Amino acid sequence: MCGIFGISDNKDASKLTYVGLFTLQHRGQESAGMAVDSKDSIHYYNGMGLVSEVFSNDMFQSFHGLTAIGHVRYSTTGSSNVNNAQPLFFNSYLGQTAIAHNGNLTNASALRAQLQKQGAIFQTSTDSEVIIHLMAKYHRSNIEDTIADNLNKLEGAYSFLFLSPGKMIGARDPNGIRPLVLGKRGKSYILSSETCAIEVVGGKIIREIEPGEIVVIEKEKLKFKKFAKPRKTAKCIFEQVYFARPDSVFSGRTVQLARYEIGRLLAVEMKDIKADIVSGVPDSGTAYALGFAKESGLPYQTVFMRNRYTGRSFIQPDQKIREFTAHLKLAPIRDAIKGKTIILIDDSLVRGTTSKKIIKNLKKSGAKKIIMAIGSPPITNSCYYGIDTPTKKELIAAKFKIEGIRKFIDADALHYLSLSNLIKACGNNRDKDFCTACFTGKYPTKTEK
Ligand code: AMP
Repeated sequence: MCGIFGISDNKDASKLTYVGLFTLQHRGQESAGMAVDSKDSIHYYNGMGLVSEVFSNDMFQSFHGLTAIGHVRYSTTGSSNVNNAQPLFFNSYLGQTAIAHNGNLTNASALRAQLQKQGAIFQTSTDSEVIIHLMAKYHRSNIEDTIADNLNKLEGAYSFLFLSPGKMIGARDPNGIRPLVLGKRGKSYILSSETCAIEVVGGKIIREIEPGEIVVIEKEKLKFKKFAKPRKTAKCIFEQVYFARPDSVFSGRTVQLARYEIGRLLAVEMKDIKADIVSGVPDSGTAYALGFAKESGLPYQTVFMRNRYTGRSFIQPDQKIREFTAHLKLAPIRDAIKGKTIILIDDSLVRGTTSKKIIKNLKKSGAKKIIMAIGSPPITNSCYYGIDTPTKKELIAAKFKIEGIRKFIDADALHYLSLSNLIKACGNNRDKDFCTACFTGKYPTKTEK
């Protein structure tokens, strides 16, 4: 997954983009980058690591411009190296352009092979680069028409930001799988993956970019254009389940509230279950557990101490040390656990390895019984749209039925939230048009399997 952020017409564009990317850091920690429109010439800088590691104070002395776009990356297509860090930059018939992409293109391999056959030389292993070659080859007289024409050749999930001298352009795929929001701060317009980054830089939210819509921002003015025929809207429901920040707004309510509601509906579905306390696997599980506690009347209790500093930078020097790392990340709080039957809530089971380790740890710390509750249905299918899920054969719910999964993770009971209640909670009782392919196998676009 990735995060994108851009701001127009602001003398502090690069600094505000830094803040925006910092706020979107949860969407990608592998690399970060920024491109700035600096007096009719685009400058860019990308690096590996966290936003705070890639950019330095000194850089901002020379990284000026009125409009900037930025990207944080968590690779799902293409390897993790600086060559694949975004924004990608290119110079074509249309002039200098930088692009930042969130999502996954499902026809990228076929397009790449076709373009290479025609002589294209690819510089990265990202799926995003295909749009560059398409735009260079099939161009119109201006960049927005060129973008619109070529987006129609892509399949899959994408939110894009484009920066060319004097213009910032945003686009969202015709199914609206990945998010893109428009905001305003004074005369500046902001485009961001999530609302939280707009609010942190002092902006106001205007609206989501609609599926299949392009927005062109030029000289403090907005121009909207639909580039694709309407398709069924299919917003990724995993944004609310796991990915997005709790203070971001999706479908008219904060993610925190959607997660609280998921927890409440889990309690409704599990009303006959007896337990002493309810708790969540940090961080997303905490909001679920609070909702569960409110509905069930069971006390909420924190059962883990989460170490917040075990990011990418935590090296695991050898196998012996590696064995401690599950405990190091989440350390059980013994007195809260001892002798208790605990309803433990997590957002999802992917391979099942996290829950297995956590349950083992809780039982070692004296828990009597662990009733595992999952705030989403079984994940039985891979995501081709940018959520990092493994191949189908590695998914625990594709291998086993519920009882088999329960045995594998060694829980005393296991319950998954129903899809209808997940949609109710995430859609705020108004949106129903979600991509739920990871639970149902019904993909909203063609996929390259
Ligand atoms: P697993 O251990 O493979 O079952 O993964 C499940 C755990 O990973 C849960 O605690 C989730 O919060 C978390 N998770 C779910 N989806 C993702 C993702 N795309 N990337 C990283 N972690 C995830």
